[in-house]
Amino acid sequence: MTDTMLKVADGMVVSLDYTLCLDDGQVIDSSNGREALQFLQGQGQIIPGLEQALYGMEVGEEKEVEVAPGDGYGETDPDAYQMVPHDVFPPDMELSEGMGLRMRDEAGQPLEAYVADVSPEGVLLDFNHPLAGETLYFHVKIADLRPGTSEELDHGHVHN
Ligand code: ZN
Repeated sequence: MTDTMLKVADGMVVSLDYTLCLDDGQVIDSSNGREALQFLQGQGQIIPGLEQALYGMEVGEEKEVEVAPGDGYGETDPDAYQMVPHDVFPPDMELSEGMGLRMRDEAGQPLEAYVADVSPEGVLLDFNHPLAGETLYFHVKIADLRPGTSEELDHGHVHN
């Protein structure tokens, strides 16, 4: 059996070249100029809509994959916005719309938020994933495929 007969299936280690665009055509992520993205198929290591579309693909095969928000980073959750008073932030900190912030929740867990609006009443924070609500357009190419080793399958991730 040659490698070219391998197909993407659960338990395969996939090396994926990809370009990710939003619906305005803006490229927001790409493996171009970097190493291909490597993951174990079937483990939910990549977003579900993309993982699903790869099944059965062979090395060298390319595909356009459109991923709806529900199969990507989720719909925008209107409850994930929170207004906080200005004095939560250091007085010399300049806040601007779209700025990313690293915060901690009550349990001390790190979480990311984006400044959605700055007004005299306070700062509106958006805790949605920055790609929530976006339809994602991937161009993918299977760069390489190999069966996962028994140890990798055991651990549920790729070893290098
Ligand atoms: Zn491991």
